[in-house]
Amino acid sequence: MRRKSSLAFCSLIAASLAALLLLSPALGTAGPERVLPKKFGLPPWSLMSLTVGHPNHGWQVRAKRIKKNKILSIKAGSEDRSYGHPALVLMLGRSAKEISKAASGSVMLVGDLSTKNGGPLSGHRSHQSGRDADVGFYVVDEAGKPAHLEKFVAFGRDGKASDGSGLRFDDWRNWLLVQSWVRDRRAGLSHIFVSRALRTRLLTYGQSQAAFKKYVPEVTALLKQPEDAEPHDDHFHVRVSCPGDQTEICREESK
Ligand SMILES: [Zn+2]
Repeated sequence: MRRKSSLAFCSLIAASLAALLLLSPALGTAGPERVLPKKFGLPPWSLMSLTVGHPNHGWQVRAKRIKKNKILSIKAGSEDRSYGHPALVLMLGRSAKEISKAASGSVMLVGDLSTKNGGPLSGHRSHQSGRDADVGFYVVDEAGKPAHLEKFVAFGRDGKASDGSGLRFDDWRNWLLVQSWVRDRRAGLSHIFVSRALRTRLLTYGQSQAAFKKYVPEVTALLKQPEDAEPHDDHFHVRVSCPGDQTEICREESK
């Protein structure tokens, strides 16, 4: 009996050490204090990916990495910033698949998500808790043929690239992308940021297409230009909501 209880004691110590190790990436880094309520150190929580805190003051545990493939590329420089909550990562994978099915050869360009353990990320206010992702636009060349971007390029209300490359904003595929996020019930979309000019352009396009019209109200509600950030004229910024089983540790809004 004694042996059993000392074994139990040892495994308790081991579990506590493991919990400490789990939180150790936080030590020495600026940003939010990484302390979780006790129950999150135990199963099933201890086996799950966790998104903690606010989008602009948060962190994550056991994040999922988004991987490049034939239909999804990672922007240069974002390789170490490609970790997010599975709800976000899987949603991006589903939408890339949907667009490539509708228009074969399409490749989604994914920029920053969050770092492996989350926390402050240079160049962003949010992107801290694994719920935010930047995604490049689908574009066509001067002849109207799908082209693939390696970096984010800005577009104006007229749909023309502002870098003088002659590239154009592909209304059809960008609408399909936004529509796929809005319709994705598994992920729980919070919002999509894009510039006011491109928002107007997309909504005008959706309204003009019989097949897309019915999604216009939902897209209208979720497509926003952020009030206190860059105009987002060279990428979409998409955010998923707090997972239903993590509302105790996840904060929906920025602080
Ligand atoms: Zn962003």
